[in-house]
Amino acid sequence: MSNTIIKGQCLCGAVQYQYSAEIEKSILCYCQDCQQAQGSIAGWNSPIEKINFELSGIEYLQEYFHTANKARVFCKVCASPLYSYRLDLPEFIRLRLGTVTEGNIPAPTEEYFIEHKPEFIVISSS
Ligand SMILES: [Zn+2]
Ligand SMILES: [Zn+2]
Repeated sequence: MSNTIIKGQCLCGAVQYQYSAEIEKSILCYCQDCQQAQGSIAGWNSPIEKINFELSGIEYLQEYFHTANKARVFCKVCASPLYSYRLDLPEFIRLRLGTVTEGNIPAPTEEYFIEHKPEFIVISSS
């Protein structure tokens, strides 16, 4: 039943995961929290169902709560951001799509906090 469609890992490889469903949409968030947490222009995420998400290396995961309701989960060896989840929505995670190594990721269809979006970023909508 569970065909592996998506695979990924942190930078050092201590944490590996697979998601046995399709990623249906991707989101860019330019808020300052995402920019600082990712050390980049944006957070690039997809909300996915935890029930289809399998992870190895759970002992290497560290959670950080910048806000009370939201855990930001990263590898404590190499510090790669892997996903976040909200305490009030435990059945979903927001996968950090830069950690995906195999499988199809759709182009972003939603962008948030575009007032913090650098002008040099242009998303093509095909
Ligand atoms: Zn790692
Ligand atoms: Zn954000």
